Amino acid sequence: MSDLASRFHMIQERLHQAAHNAGRDPANITLIAVSKTWPADILAAAYAAGARHFGENRTHELEEKRTALGQSFPPDDPPTWHYIAPLQSRQTGTVADYADIFHAVDRLKIAKRLSRQLKENGRSLPVFLEVNISGEGSKSGFPCHQWEKNSQQRENLQKIAQTLADMPGLQPQGLMTMAPWGAPVTTVRQIFARTRELSLWLQTAVPHTTWTNLSMGMTDDFELAIAEGATHVRVGRAIFGSRH
Ligand SMILES: *Cc1c(COP(=O)(O)O)cnc(C)c1O
Repeated sequence: MSDLASRFHMIQERLHQAAHNAGRDPANITLIAVSKTWPADILAAAYAAGARHFGENRTHELEEKRTALGQSFPPDDPPTWHYIAPLQSRQTGTVADYADIFHAVDRLKIAKRLSRQLKENGRSLPVFLEVNISGEGSKSGFPCHQWEKNSQQRENLQKIAQTLADMPGLQPQGLMTMAPWGAPVTTVRQIFARTRELSLWLQTAVPHTTWTNLSMGMTDDFELAIAEGATHVRVGRAIFGSRH
């Protein structure tokens, strides 16, 4: 077996173990192989090893790889393409054309453009709202670092979530977050727990819309994220190796 295949299987095994430890069904956790920077033939090898979800964070890479690999997958079992990074205005068209799921709505302006372009395409797109729970200035996402005690932050998020839910073509899925780099395990776990609690609050604040999914956890922390309810983990380096 190739190194890539054995690494992929090891991550699948760790995901299953983390789910069992948390008393969860691993079938409810989507493993996104974050294939950013890797060429199309490596993605084909990951598909052969069992990967069915790819994560990209550059619009030109998404377009190029999806186009290059387009017809090579069995039509009854194509992979799902996730776009995992925030967008600039001029990039939304590529995501409206080529992504199956978008994880990082961090401004309503971007959501509006996507909605309009999706309408032109006659498509709809499942989306996650990105929230900044850690309060790190370097993190994108709607500010929610004090959501428990700051009613202004809650009201803002509620308005944004309601606006998003009302936009044609966008299908809200839940919240996405990033843990602080290199933070202690207890801090990271707390960020994930607070994101889960915020999603529970949002489910009552903006009903009749799905907010139950949680996109959180990467190579260094996906097991902690699963312990706190992650439904989508985004794992790059542990599957593909370090990026050049
Ligand atoms: C790169 C990236 C990942 C994957 O990170 P790894 O540390 O390689 O697992 C996950 N989410 C986002 C938003 C990323 O940009």
